[in-house]
Amino acid sequence: METKYIFVTGGVTSSLGKGIISASLARLLLARGYKVTIQKFDPYINIDPGTLNPYEHGECYVTVDGHEADLDLGHYERFTNTPTTRANNITTGRIYQNVIDKERRGDYLGKTVQIIPHITDEIKRNIKSLGSKNQFDFVITEIGGTVGDIESLPYLESVRQLRWEMGKNCVCIHLTYVPYIAAAKELKTKPTQHSVKQLQEVGIQPDILVLRTEHDLSLNLRKKVALFCNVDPAAVIQSIDVPSIYEVPLKMHQQHLDEIVLTKTGLPINGEPHLEPWMNFLHRMKNATETVRIGLVGKYVELPDAYKSINESLFQAATYNDRKLDLQYIHSEKLNSGNVEQMLSSLDGVLIAPGFGQRGIEGKFVALKYAREHDIPTFGVCLGMQCMVIEYARDVLGLADANSTEMDVTTKHNVIDLMEEQKSITNMGGTMRLGAYDCTLVEDSIAAKAYGTTHIRERHRHRFEFNNEYRQAFEEAGMRCVGENPETHLVEVVEVPSLRWYVGVQYHPEYNSTVLNPNPLFVDFIKAAISKK
Ligand code: GLN
Repeated sequence: METKYIFVTGGVTSSLGKGIISASLARLLLARGYKVTIQKFDPYINIDPGTLNPYEHGECYVTVDGHEADLDLGHYERFTNTPTTRANNITTGRIYQNVIDKERRGDYLGKTVQIIPHITDEIKRNIKSLGSKNQFDFVITEIGGTVGDIESLPYLESVRQLRWEMGKNCVCIHLTYVPYIAAAKELKTKPTQHSVKQLQEVGIQPDILVLRTEHDLSLNLRKKVALFCNVDPAAVIQSIDVPSIYEVPLKMHQQHLDEIVLTKTGLPINGEPHLEPWMNFLHRMKNATETVRIGLVGKYVELPDAYKSINESLFQAATYNDRKLDLQYIHSEKLNSGNVEQMLSSLDGVLIAPGFGQRGIEGKFVALKYAREHDIPTFGVCLGMQCMVIEYARDVLGLADANSTEMDVTTKHNVIDLMEEQKSITNMGGTMRLGAYDCTLVEDSIAAKAYGTTHIRERHRHRFEFNNEYRQAFEEAGMRCVGENPETHLVEVVEVPSLRWYVGVQYHPEYNSTVLNPNPLFVDFIKAAISKK
């Protein structure tokens, strides 16, 4: 079958949930047996979001092949259960870098290099490359930003050209917002009409409109939008707020989004999508009555998007344990020995978040000491694991000045130290230890039991590591190194077996947890938290 290309654009405002709509459509097409991938174009100049502060765009996601990516790729994986790669997230910076590299090599044979056709050709090449070699039946491409932004123009121009070239193999979905004016008690379609006009001005006629709304949209309202925007009335779909993003695929299916896409691309509609496993998850989610209370200790807690994948992994794990997740955000900068009891005592489990730099680190140590001394199930992720090691060194090994050289280059007890291959690196972008690495687990460890295997592969994003010179001292003092990289012997997992569940992982298991395949370590952590009750 020829690959079909679906473009998802947005208008009126950002944060309408283009990523969730793209992911929901992908889920429906996958459930109909098609091979589907989702790609995101980000219109900023950064090469990737790796060097961005989480306050800018939320968490940085990492793909198996070690690309630092936009957090929407996390949604794509959680919904599709299919790994993404660096080809799934492209920024304007990368497009320009490729074009400039080609220009320097002389590939353009003396031509003047311009936005059209050179930048647009590079964009189109990146879209089509995912469909080449029949890898995928559907490539869904989400265009970041909002129609009307200067930065999005080259992308929209590329979409216009591709539609022209590919005809029926292309579908454009445009997302807009229908505001409710409370004083007038009215839903307003004008912003949608204007937004579609803007899209038409750049030569794109949307095939499908998805209207984000907080209130039910009447048939009449949708007909009106259809009339003004040259779209089939049936292809005007509402995306009403739902309690969980994981319900969106069903909402879209109820309005036949998948069927409309199949019809528009000339494909047959063979029965219903196979959504049973997904429905099973939703069923458990809705029927859970008891809660599990987890504290997330981090410094970006005022911005939940900074820990998006951790939140979702905890939620999935709670659901598979038939529990509602009660997630308490605990600001590590505000935590001290005076208030730790009040902040942590009611928790069933504590997760110490990943991060970079000194800010908030002392609060993490306070939380860890309390959790360890009160035997609260505790999960340390990346920096969280490194903090576990440092706190244990200070309090149990008696090395009061133990630290990571990230926080103190002169520390005498560098229990966490810069990795050897990191020492000569000066460039900050894309140079950490990134992507999936093998890890061998000790057979009787909590981790091995949770995974049900001693060979795992998880994704990393760090520069510092457990210092193996201290390995024996830790083991003798009761902290075991139960997971290591088989080639480099880098320590990837530590545990304190005398405690109920005290596990730190140098990798990021949260990148590898999906609705249909929750990460086993998260599931086991929640299980331990529940049994603590
Ligand atoms: N800052 C630590 C390091 O670079 C941990 C990174 C993280 O938590 N992702 O090793």
